[in-house]
Amino acid sequence: MFVPSHLASGYLLGKLFKKSPWTVYPFMPILLFASVLPDIDGIFSDTVAGHHSILHTPLFWIIVFGGLTLTNMVFKNIQLKPISLGLLLGTQLHLLTDWFTARTVGIQWLFPFSHKDYFLYPIRPEYGQGSVWGMIQNPYFSFYMENTCLFWIEIGVIMCGGALFIYTWINRKKYNNT
Ligand SMILES: [Zn+2]
Repeated sequence: MFVPSHLASGYLLGKLFKKSPWTVYPFMPILLFASVLPDIDGIFSDTVAGHHSILHTPLFWIIVFGGLTLTNMVFKNIQLKPISLGLLLGTQLHLLTDWFTARTVGIQWLFPFSHKDYFLYPIRPEYGQGSVWGMIQNPYFSFYMENTCLFWIEIGVIMCGGALFIYTWINRKKYNNT
């Protein structure tokens, strides 16, 4: 999945939650940041197919969440709840959507207990031998668009996220004016 669709799916997920001590500010900014965070391993990888490091495994982020929760139990920092939940949900959503839209590399759901790669549609690692910066160029981009169902789902997620953001923004302005 591409960065704009990761951000849009993170925004849509964040909007599903009612206000609580876990979802107050900075829950949404952290959730958006975390929805793209695993892809920083792309900076350190030579190929698209090889860019999934430990950052693309669920257990790593569950351990981070556990560490932050323990820290919160000791220091009772009011912001640690929304930060830890935003980080957990954003990264797990990233992995779920990467699994769903996998084209050249899947997700190792059971790492480190198994190195098996999981994906929904058959993957073609041979198309992912270029750099991650080549993802928005051909031939990778046209290969990615070959699965039209997934491509339009990504476009749909971006449109829904964008529409909801604009709707929320307009209504906030109205609210502020009254
Ligand atoms: Zn990813």
